[in-house]
Amino acid sequence: MSAKGDMLYAWANDADILEKGECGGAVTTLLKYALESGMVDAVLAVQKGYDIYDATPVFITDPAEIIKTAGSLHCGTLLLPKLIKNWLGGANDMKIAVTVKGCDAKAMYELAKREQINLDNVIMIGLNCGGSVSPVSARKMIADKFETDPDTVVKEEIDKGQFIIETADGHKGISIDDLEEEGYGRRANCQRCKTKVPRQADLACGNWGVIGDKAGKATFVEVCSDKGAELLDAAVKAGALATEDPIPKGIVIRGKIENAMFKLADKYREKQFSELGESTDRLKFIMDETSKCIKCYQCIENCPICYCKECSTKKAHLVTPGQVPPPFMFHLIRYSHIADSCINCGQCEELCAMDIPNALFMHSLQTEMEKMFGFTPGVNMDLPILALVEEPAERDRLSATGSDQIFDIFK
Ligand code: FAD
Ligand code: SF4
Ligand code: SF4
Ligand code: SF4
Ligand code: SF4
Repeated sequence: MSAKGDMLYAWANDADILEKGECGGAVTTLLKYALESGMVDAVLAVQKGYDIYDATPVFITDPAEIIKTAGSLHCGTLLLPKLIKNWLGGANDMKIAVTVKGCDAKAMYELAKREQINLDNVIMIGLNCGGSVSPVSARKMIADKFETDPDTVVKEEIDKGQFIIETADGHKGISIDDLEEEGYGRRANCQRCKTKVPRQADLACGNWGVIGDKAGKATFVEVCSDKGAELLDAAVKAGALATEDPIPKGIVIRGKIENAMFKLADKYREKQFSELGESTDRLKFIMDETSKCIKCYQCIENCPICYCKECSTKKAHLVTPGQVPPPFMFHLIRYSHIADSCINCGQCEELCAMDIPNALFMHSLQTEMEKMFGFTPGVNMDLPILALVEEPAERDRLSATGSDQIFDIFK
């Protein structure tokens, strides 16, 4: 029987999954087993769409379809939790298994603590994540730096610090450090991200630490909850999943890589935040950048923390309607409502029509608030600084009192 904290190498017993999986197909096997066995009603995962730059969310109820999701898409910058909230009833009426990168796992927690997702009905299969590359910049990077037509690439991977592409002519890899020095590589928020092994999930799965004859053919699994242990044990017992103890040196290597990634993220935070300037210079920079805003609302639509039915940015007395660019108050509202809980998922920047570095602004505020109040979003179920309230009740309170404070911290 496995238990929280256990570590192991795992791979699929099914030959097809073993071949198609990124590193032995353990994740695909676990998702398939969870669905087949009735532990969950459905699976939410990611699969290749039109091409390798098109990572598409997929909702599956037929176990035979799970195989289509095998493989990692490093240009998949999407975030799944808000889909569960918006389209799957917050998992209140069905049990769902979902693959989560660190940012997904943190968004799950922030939505769950606001009662927008029922985590009791969710099994989170975590994926270690060194970072993802925006599809647009991946195409440019492959054309410019790899001198390869992006449409001829059949597979991409990130391994041993390199971004590697595969075409009919073979493999080509370039060091991510070198790419990033020249402005390519991972998204800026991924460079700053320190959630590399998503231990908030029920199982955390990745290739770091798999050495010896299983390198590339098995996944390193860390058991992070009783729910994770139960799924893992059941899949092994049913003969779907093979496991073995990890090589001790592999555990050490995994820890060292994780630590090195933390240090790198700190370096990027320092660099990117300092480039914003200090004090009024920083304010001016943010005001200048946001003056490009066309009020497309993508930042709000896609932020996992933004889900109010009556968004304050749509209130005429706060933000003058019909004005483009909108008054700075539009952005100030979001900063004041989200800054304590921003999980640095990058969605508000990735999907901004005007390439405004919204996530950078928000993350820089969040890290300052974290220093002041000690609250780190997405790591556990602790309430945010601006303690949460149920929205309709809060709206009533706002109307009754005339207050503009969304969250009542003195509740
Ligand atoms: P498979 O059986 O092939 O299953 C892979 C699962 O991942 C599928 O269910 C698929 O739906 C899901 N998936 C694919 N792309 C995404 C995506 N973009 N977002 C959410 N779900 C997705 N491991 C490390 O140890 N170090 C790393 O630096 C690292 N970086 C990663 C970066 C990304 C963007 C991703 C997606 C994965 C990363 N991994 C990393 C995990 C590793 O690549 C494998 O996914 C893991 O070892 C499981 O292998 P497997 O064969 O069991 O997975
Ligand atoms: Fe991975 Fe973190 Fe980037 Fe999310 S924000 S894709 S977890 S590196
Ligand atoms: Fe993600 Fe942006 Fe919302 Fe922060 S503000 S949680 S980076 S969408
Ligand atoms: Fe986001 Fe604030 Fe609008 Fe709610 S009111 S959706 S928290 S900006
Ligand atoms: Fe403005 Fe960008 Fe937000 Fe659209 S996504 S409303 S352009 S800041």
